[in-house]
Amino acid sequence: MAELRSYRMFIDGLWCDAEGGARLESLNPATEEAWCRFPAATGNDVDRAVAAAHRAMSAGPWATMSATARGKLLRRLGDLVAENADLLAETETTDTGKLIRETRSQIRYVADYFHYFGGAADKLEGATLPIDKSDMFVMTVREPIGVVAAIVPWNSQLMLAAVKIGPALAAGNSIVLKASEHGPAPLLELARLCEEAGFPPGSINVVTGLGDPCGARLTRHPLVARIAFTGGPGTARHVVRNSAENFAAVTLELGGKSPIIVFDDADIESAVNGIVAGNFGATGQSCVAGSRVLIQAGIFDAILARVAERARRIEIGDPLDQGSEMGPLATRAQRDHIESVLARSLAAGASLVAGGKRPAQYPRGWYFEPTILDCPHSDIPAGREELFGPVLSAFRFADEAEAVALANASEFGLAAGIFTRDGARGLRLMHQIRAGIVWINTYRAVSPMAPFGGFRQSGVGREAGIESLLDYSRTKTVWINTGTAPMGDPFTMR
Ligand code: NAD
Repeated sequence: MAELRSYRMFIDGLWCDAEGGARLESLNPATEEAWCRFPAATGNDVDRAVAAAHRAMSAGPWATMSATARGKLLRRLGDLVAENADLLAETETTDTGKLIRETRSQIRYVADYFHYFGGAADKLEGATLPIDKSDMFVMTVREPIGVVAAIVPWNSQLMLAAVKIGPALAAGNSIVLKASEHGPAPLLELARLCEEAGFPPGSINVVTGLGDPCGARLTRHPLVARIAFTGGPGTARHVVRNSAENFAAVTLELGGKSPIIVFDDADIESAVNGIVAGNFGATGQSCVAGSRVLIQAGIFDAILARVAERARRIEIGDPLDQGSEMGPLATRAQRDHIESVLARSLAAGASLVAGGKRPAQYPRGWYFEPTILDCPHSDIPAGREELFGPVLSAFRFADEAEAVALANASEFGLAAGIFTRDGARGLRLMHQIRAGIVWINTYRAVSPMAPFGGFRQSGVGREAGIESLLDYSRTKTVWINTGTAPMGDPFTMR
């Protein structure tokens, strides 16, 4: 067996092991075998990382660096990410099973996020206020918030880290980033590039380890002022409870059960491609998966037949092979969860149109076939619960009102897709659908400029865009007495 790659954490500008030397192994989802080792941080390791981040905010080069210089560092990091895209992509693919064709293109785009926030760093401005007192001059200045605790899940870790690191550092905060225990290697490779870019010690720290103690300690730490969490709603509840200790500002990017609505006037090819991209792209392991497909009754059979035909042709294979269109699921637990929800869904009356099992040609690796369920009523578990895998649940609707009602009948509210040639209808529904992102005649498009996030069980706050940069800073209000008279005695009426 090949020697396991060995990683260390990045704290205060130094590479280090966990206190006591404890380590965890990361498994390659395509082989089910361990391929690297990484430190299992203890609570004390987290304390060290937060203390380093706090020192960086209060003394040393990071604390006094101009916004323009911070922006340059971020742009340099973007350049290094682009130059090292192949290495980062291969690491992420080996560690999480995400297809190399997806990691290669996504990581080049990750560089754009660093360039975008690097460019925005010195555009954060305060204001002068037209105050209602003639002898006062009042202004606001924008300041960093403090130490940011950023926590990411295993899917698209580099992208999810970039939307946190970019605005946090652009606004002058320091950051402690906790990688997922299911595939931390890409973030440790990114830490190496941060070091090469020249970020001062403590400004960015990357710790690895289990949710508890590592994430739990981080989110309740008294010196943490801002938490940016991406993961599942169950974990998010722990995070919010922990933030009651430090009153840190919190953003949560959680899961979804996003609807894709197809009307009978839609461009069929576009709709089929949108459904396939929304469900089988990233092997369905995407928070914005369009896993509730709502199709107008008259075209239901025709659309589903076309999607099923494409799904059966999807090339399942080694994620490191550029030709593969779907790889394995990231963890065994993921596959077990999908199989159990699928069994409950079939028992509840859903019928299988395609897939539904492990592909016979892959006895090793956590592969699962692209799966389509025809759901005769809304009480099908796969149509309500997030599966985070390649499983599409299809429902019929009669008219626009029923489509909106079905789309909104979910505890989540992350994204939605609408396929129709009727532009007015697209805009009308955009207002009525409760989701943070609405795609009309497209699906899964993202950009550094476009805010991303949901509401209800899908989370709070937005990532990307200028809105998120503001969210990593706070205003300080400054009052200046410009009058010539001294300040009066407070107990003397004037
Ligand atoms: P998860 O919630 O199990 O873990 C996410 C992170 O939280 C990991 O780093 C984990 O170690 C950490 N964690 C665990 N317990 C913790 C605790 N008590 N305190 C603090 N941190 C803790 O999620 P996962 O299984 O890794 O990822 C899948 C989930 O992430 C899905 O629900 C998916 O929809 C969601 N997700 C959301 C988005 C989005 O932007 N909205 C993007 C990707 C994934």
